[in-house]
Amino acid sequence: MELDITTNPNIKPPAKIQLAGLTRAEIAGALTDFGIEPKQVRMRAGQIFRWVYNYGVTDWSSMTNIAKGLRAELSGAFELNRPEIVERQISVDGTRKYLIRMAPGIEVESVFIPAVSKTGALCVSSQVGCTLTCKFCHTGSQRLVRNLSAAEIALQVMVAKDDLEEWPSSEGGRKLTNIVFMGMGEPLYNTDNVAQALDIICDPEGLSFGRRRITLSTSGVVPEIVSAGERTKAMLAISLHAANDQLRTQIMPINKKYPLAELMAACRAYPGLSNAKRITFEYVMLKGVNDSPRHAVELINLLKGIPAKVNLIPFNPWPGSEYECSSWETIERFADKINAAGYASPIRTPRGRDILAACGQLKSESEKMRASERRTLKEK
Ligand code: SAH
Ligand code: SF4
Repeated sequence: MELDITTNPNIKPPAKIQLAGLTRAEIAGALTDFGIEPKQVRMRAGQIFRWVYNYGVTDWSSMTNIAKGLRAELSGAFELNRPEIVERQISVDGTRKYLIRMAPGIEVESVFIPAVSKTGALCVSSQVGCTLTCKFCHTGSQRLVRNLSAAEIALQVMVAKDDLEEWPSSEGGRKLTNIVFMGMGEPLYNTDNVAQALDIICDPEGLSFGRRRITLSTSGVVPEIVSAGERTKAMLAISLHAANDQLRTQIMPINKKYPLAELMAACRAYPGLSNAKRITFEYVMLKGVNDSPRHAVELINLLKGIPAKVNLIPFNPWPGSEYECSSWETIERFADKINAAGYASPIRTPRGRDILAACGQLKSESEKMRASERRTLKEK
């Protein structure tokens, strides 16, 4: 006897495949498996790719260059959904923080930082949590849950574009112009997925971000730096924060594994390095820890010969953090010294502090919930 799947509650129809977030090649593969004629696969994959990434459509009915009958068949097998925005907060300064649920228990934060002058950036996450334990970083106090897939990285950009109403991607006057991997996680511990996400994000027929508008920020995973540069052609930022090994190891344990000499050698070998493609060195200003004139001199000596710019980040406090931010005068004095040595050294204005969206303050809600659950358990 044949079972009727429409009435039998024990039989679920097969789950639809999610196409939004996939590469061109993956879309083509899915269409082949679905049974699209081999001669047509490339063309159909191209059409769908443009609908999804240039027009941002989330339903099949908009795809007017695909026949109705085929659209109906495709919609039975594939979906174009976005992950759910669990929480969206807007700071008094316009910064928007999204908490996005990628899968049950897998929540990540992305932050849109609107333009002050010309560029508006989306700060994306590459992992849920982080294996590294930099002392000043909130994410570092959260264990690693898992790497994000390329699709989950690309979807963060799409979710932000939905919210900012920035479709089609090919239209001018964008608010979201740059992408920085400065959210949760260490992108160079997830290099393959990050690189694949960039192939999606930078495709000129889709989201169409220039590779020079993408910045990978790393705490210094030395063996990945040059190969990530070759593979992605993106800009590089190094979370330096200290210019001598003793102090850096103290605040960033990864320095023990990859000390400064190796890190600087990898920076010097970064592909395409020039005055037009400088490395950004991030330096968080920690009161009484790394902010004296002596530290500034050390930093200048360390950077000698590297096309570099220094980004001074006022420390953003978080609940339980053990540091304080240097005073404004100290930061300015430090910046002046670096400037006088010939390096641009902008002081990063903290954005979105009121909603814990500033650098190093991200930590997913799921983890906060687990922490509160732990507290409740303890109290019992
Ligand atoms: N894991 C990568 C990218 C994410 S961190 C990295 O470490 O580079 C993004 C930036 O925020 C890094 O430069 C990091 O050092 C900095 N940061 C971390 N905690 C911070 C805090 N509490 N205040 C200011 N900056 C912080
Ligand atoms: Fe991880 Fe970067 Fe935070 Fe260090 S600063 S703990 S590498 S997210």
